[in-house]
Amino acid sequence: MNAHDVKYGVQYYPEHWPQERWAVDAAMMQRAGINVVRMGEFAWSAYEPREGEIDFTWMEDAIRLLGKHGIQTILCTCSRTPPPWLYRKYPGILNVQPNGIPHEKDGRYRVALLHDVFIEHARRIDGGVIRHFAGHDNIVAWQLDNEIGDANDCHCPHCIEQFQKYLEAKYGTPEKLNEAWGEHFWSFRIDTFKDVPTPVRHPQVLLEYRRFMSHTNTAFARWRSDLIRQCAPGKQITTNFQNIHAIHTDCHELATAVDVNGMNHYPSRTPELAIDYYRGKRDTVWALEQHTRLRDVDTPAGWMRLWAWMTIAHGANAIVHFRWRQCRWGAEQFCDGILPHSGEENRFYGDLTRMGREVQSIGHLIAPTRPRAKAAILFSYASRWGIAVSGLARDLGPVHEAKMFHQALARVVTAVDAMDPHEDLSGYSLVIAPRLWMVDRAIAASLTQFVENGGTLCLTTGTGVVDEYGKGFDEPRPGRLHALAGIKVSDLAHQPNLRLNLRSSIVPALEGAVGEQIADEIHPLDAETVATHASGWRQGLPAITLHRKGKGNVVYVGTLLQQAGINAIVDWLCQISGIEQSFARPEGVSIYERFCDQYKLLFLVNWTDALQTVEIGKDWQDVFTGEALEAIQIPANDLRITRHSTYES
Ligand SMILES: [Zn+2]
Repeated sequence: MNAHDVKYGVQYYPEHWPQERWAVDAAMMQRAGINVVRMGEFAWSAYEPREGEIDFTWMEDAIRLLGKHGIQTILCTCSRTPPPWLYRKYPGILNVQPNGIPHEKDGRYRVALLHDVFIEHARRIDGGVIRHFAGHDNIVAWQLDNEIGDANDCHCPHCIEQFQKYLEAKYGTPEKLNEAWGEHFWSFRIDTFKDVPTPVRHPQVLLEYRRFMSHTNTAFARWRSDLIRQCAPGKQITTNFQNIHAIHTDCHELATAVDVNGMNHYPSRTPELAIDYYRGKRDTVWALEQHTRLRDVDTPAGWMRLWAWMTIAHGANAIVHFRWRQCRWGAEQFCDGILPHSGEENRFYGDLTRMGREVQSIGHLIAPTRPRAKAAILFSYASRWGIAVSGLARDLGPVHEAKMFHQALARVVTAVDAMDPHEDLSGYSLVIAPRLWMVDRAIAASLTQFVENGGTLCLTTGTGVVDEYGKGFDEPRPGRLHALAGIKVSDLAHQPNLRLNLRSSIVPALEGAVGEQIADEIHPLDAETVATHASGWRQGLPAITLHRKGKGNVVYVGTLLQQAGINAIVDWLCQISGIEQSFARPEGVSIYERFCDQYKLLFLVNWTDALQTVEIGKDWQDVFTGEALEAIQIPANDLRITRHSTYES
């Protein structure tokens, strides 16, 4: 594999299978066009079956054997899943629930990253793995552990003391903390940092605990990446951000400890938005666990390949299918796997092989390219934490609405960026920030500058509700953004059964659109009304507003729209921000583009059971055959990839 190629492979657990099977697996992988495997993230018990008896020989053998078949290794560190003997000898490594009871031992990750004994043994095994394998030619990259931060919260007295010390370092004095958090509600006012309780109910304590754990989880990763850089300079370092619904760690902070963002991608439960969000502002993302099939999904024939190509179309430069073969035992006995328990070839292996040959043929063309977007979606972990601890609407995190906006944009454009609101917004025409609950001064300044420079900003209900400490503002919602939006929102309530219709002459497609769960009471300052409520006590009151500010626009959507309404508002947002539809596309066809300075690639995925035709214009060639194309036919459940032969950036 060339360093500038697309990585294509599987997760492999040699420790699960007898050594004589490894050669069979390696030969099958080579036939399938695989050039990389990821290994070792749960290997501690295989490396060190008893304390101090460490043997890395078997992993060396596996790496060497795979190398002979042209397959390189992404090697993982492994310390967050210790073997049972470590729990037996050092029970203090286990993390503790808020009620003081230690977690169970037969799961995974149930260790506290701040317990001294765990730190000592984790550094011993991870340091041992890193130093031992650092010079190995067949290791192409390193992965830091697995899904870092999941299940690592700990409420034992030692960890809470560390939390209190973090607060002291951050705030300096109890008075500063009281001022930032607010005081006297339920008689809460601290006199010393030791007064800060275990986080259970208090929103400010809970919010700051999430920041503390995000820092803790990132520090765990950084120790390992620092050592890898020292021992194996030049090797890329990654880690896999867990599914989009996990909020234990801010992935943007964790990304500062790695060279390449990595992710788990399970399309049936992970929206395409997740790939763009985990790619963020970086050039690429590696799908380190790519769905093959799940126990609750009847995976249609060919879709494993389409899901993987769709991931690449979003900017991924590595596909590591999870996993090579279903394990015959353990908690994931019936989870993903290309091969079944028996290890025999099947239709998934056929899919794997088909795509493997395609990647071998065109991976070098794909690797230098990346998506280029004029539209971006923003949401933050701080907002998600703030909503989760608010007690108002725990299930109203922004991801679901962001996913709907992303789907709507995907009908119009061929690339969308998704990222944290602190990122640089220059270069975008349209920014959509669903439920930006928490707005600090930096976000407010950045969004204001974006609009004044001519950008179109779309905010939605539940924006600008709290500051960085989780406190409500002493100005009308959306708080620090209310002047920018030109409105005052005077009521915010979550009504799960609320359902209402909109009326709009300005955006006719919004006429009759359905809003749910939240309907803000909006009073325009100098904003125009785009849509009103059609009935109830809100009849005639604004539901959607537009504020022309500087050279730009701010649109505020004061209710949770269903997908049809989101589609209508996105079409209008694209219109007022000058974004035109790239290609007319049939229902069930997705279109993506990746660019470099010399050419661009077009990915057309047909998710339907019928042949589809798309007009793509002049100067396109099929990447596999070189055939010139203007109208492209895509077979059922298949894709086409074309290259624009005369493109110049
Ligand atoms: Zn603890």
